[in-house]
Amino acid sequence: MSHVFPRHTKSVLPVAASGDGAYLIDDQGKRYLDCGDAAVSCLGHSNPAVIAAVQAQVEKIAFAHTGFMTSQPAEALADLLIEHAPGDLDRVYFVSGGSEATEAAIKLARQYYMEIGQPERCHVIARRQSYHGNTLGALSAGGNAWRRAQFAPLLVDMTHIAPCYEYAEKAEGECSFDYGQRVANELETEILRVGPEKVMAFMAEPVVGATLGAVPSVDGYYKRIREICDQYGVLLILDEVMCGMGRTGHLFACDHDGVVPDILCIAKGLGAGYQPIGAMLCSARIYAAIRDGSGFFQHGHTYVGHPVATAAALAVVTELTTRDLPARAAQMGEKLQSALEAALGQHPNVGDIRGRGLFRGIELVADRDSKTPLDPALGTAAKVKKAALAQGLICYPMSGTRDGKQGDHILLAPPFIIEDDQIDELVTKLTAALTEVLG
Ligand code: PMP
Repeated sequence: MSHVFPRHTKSVLPVAASGDGAYLIDDQGKRYLDCGDAAVSCLGHSNPAVIAAVQAQVEKIAFAHTGFMTSQPAEALADLLIEHAPGDLDRVYFVSGGSEATEAAIKLARQYYMEIGQPERCHVIARRQSYHGNTLGALSAGGNAWRRAQFAPLLVDMTHIAPCYEYAEKAEGECSFDYGQRVANELETEILRVGPEKVMAFMAEPVVGATLGAVPSVDGYYKRIREICDQYGVLLILDEVMCGMGRTGHLFACDHDGVVPDILCIAKGLGAGYQPIGAMLCSARIYAAIRDGSGFFQHGHTYVGHPVATAAALAVVTELTTRDLPARAAQMGEKLQSALEAALGQHPNVGDIRGRGLFRGIELVADRDSKTPLDPALGTAAKVKKAALAQGLICYPMSGTRDGKQGDHILLAPPFIIEDDQIDELVTKLTAALTEVLG
């Protein structure tokens, strides 16, 4: 009997035994094409450079508390990230994962306004149907009704505006640009409702991952969001935990939108699964406020800037940048989009195939014309996950929430090293799984 407390207590999972590039292999020798481990394994499972970096660092020094010492890999990783980061982002705060990054971002925004003498600014605005992590602060920012429901009394009061979700919410006859401006302007309305002097930050994902299934914003949306934030002195926090680190075709997803956030959160692809690590990048202005104020960011975890985690991430980001892997993600992503459209574009339950780079989503519907979601009681996402696993494919089907109505989608996040024949394998296996579940 297993004593591990599993995620799903009613199912028995295969045991991961080893990895080989794009494949995970279980203890029975079965191979799974890994296209959905929550967008973590951007380099595949057996990258020699990252493995060597981890081994070398463990032998040198595995741990030194950052209250006393910094470490060479943490310094080098921060330099490398800043070299590639947009705008004036120039400081990096390391944590151990995505929720820690978004949580730290919220606290940094709060401390920034305390330091500059605007203590009344403590309100965060985020978007409906969003996910920013599972700790209580991050969960408060998230606007996914199902994830919030049972913890609601413990959550911090934050408010939510509409996401930019063209497929489901653009009005009949409205052009994409106008739709984007309309939903971006909801931020201004909400800031004015709350009172601009009370709002400290707006948080959103450049390309929405888990909750909506690889939904990019329309052109002009983030430019308008940035304008509104600047007008009212609201900090823009972009959560690139899932869509960042090259997955959408740029090392930083916001480069596509041409905006620079005040605080940017990354994780997942940063360590590529070789070590748990996340990071929060902040602008020179925010850093200066802390440095010239109390001189101390009142936050921290034991494993901040862990030498082995930062050594792994340094090797990952070196691989991503020297091999130009974000460009490869863009190129292979186009191939994946075309292959999905060819195989599934006419399926009666496939409403939309979308995404950016190697971050693709398929929205499942009961009816293509009305875009009516599938009945949640059917449990379609869970069935597709199971059928795909049996086929030897790991993808990431999710039950989303369209404000009360449940919608199912499948998120695909293959490693950037995926080859043409593996894209064929992915599409063939996914089509078989969908056919088994939906006919
Ligand atoms: N933000 C986003 C956008 C995410 O997708 C996730 C994880 N799925 C998180 C934050 C939380 O990251 P973690 O699970 O590493 O805490």
